[in-house]
Amino acid sequence: MNVSGPPPQHFIVARGVLHGLQVKQEALQHKQMNIVAEMDIRVLACSDRDSSLGDGDELITGQGKKLKELLLKSDNRNCADCGAVDPKWASANIGVFICLKCGSVHRSLGTHISKVLSLTLDAWSDEEIDAMIEIGGNSCANAIYEAFLPEGYSKPNSESSYEERAQFIRSKYQLQEFLKPSLRISSSKSTLTPCGSANSDGISRTESLTNTSDAGMIEFIGILNVKVKKGTNLAIRDIRTSDPYVVLTLGQQRAQTTVIKSNLNPVWNEELKLSVPQDFGTLKLQVYDHDYLSADDIMGDAEVDLQPMITSAMAFSDPDLLTDMQIGKWLQSHDNALMRDSTINIVDGKVKQELSLKLQNVESGEIDLELEWFPLIQ
Ligand SMILES: [Zn+2]
Repeated sequence: MNVSGPPPQHFIVARGVLHGLQVKQEALQHKQMNIVAEMDIRVLACSDRDSSLGDGDELITGQGKKLKELLLKSDNRNCADCGAVDPKWASANIGVFICLKCGSVHRSLGTHISKVLSLTLDAWSDEEIDAMIEIGGNSCANAIYEAFLPEGYSKPNSESSYEERAQFIRSKYQLQEFLKPSLRISSSKSTLTPCGSANSDGISRTESLTNTSDAGMIEFIGILNVKVKKGTNLAIRDIRTSDPYVVLTLGQQRAQTTVIKSNLNPVWNEELKLSVPQDFGTLKLQVYDHDYLSADDIMGDAEVDLQPMITSAMAFSDPDLLTDMQIGKWLQSHDNALMRDSTINIVDGKVKQELSLKLQNVESGEIDLELEWFPLIQ
């Protein structure tokens, strides 16, 4: 897909739109200031829990720790562009973790497009750390920058040549060829609009953007935020216990939680993000036991029907205008994995669904999830 319009020297974007925040456009600047303030509060809260709350230095330590935690999330363990394992670099304004080779291409684009920093060698400002955290990591950024990746497009891999990488990275970030057009921001500032922010005043929404008939493109209708909360009474795969982790699959996308060692009742409370295509199928969940010496053992699976949530959400198209209420329900039955009926609710302007799933094809185990739905087409 070719991008028309002015050359995009500017930057982007925009999990804000996904979050559908209620902040009005004219309040954007104010909101951005608030984000920083909110981050500080969160960092303070975090430091507080670690009982290390104190002077400014400890606050910075707290932020560095947050960045480290973000890096350790499963989707950030691979380069956002080529998938190489263990990325040691990041683009602080784009909000992705990248490998050395892709980092060198990023650097060639200029800092107005990508500000490359080493995770180990460079000094990060509080602002840069805040920005990375707000973007939310690789899967979140890729859900935006690769939203319109043509079907069958082959991304570079860890073995790809410099030229192959350069072509992809330029298309992805400089030309923004795979970006949903409605998310482009024509701001002259070379800063991002972070994840949690509202629609920017620069977002150009035009009539043509509702035309979604680009042939060969995967059209995403929303982002599904899956909070994997906990597992209960999981199956034993090692001698007396297991090292469980959860894998989610939706279409060709895959996301997984961290491994929790030696625990049959693990608590993850980990959020995984998936882009939901127009012809979404069921969300597949699998639990595995991580094995250091051999292939990981399966500890059961379950399927989640997304139709009730998405249909209900579409029927109530403007949830932030509504008070908290129930808008739908997925009923427990003998041929689904639900432990009990699962209601779909509007909570604080967001569409949410809590689920308790009985793992199938295994002797025991339950998984609790919370789904949150962000529509991309209003
Ligand atoms: Zn890479």
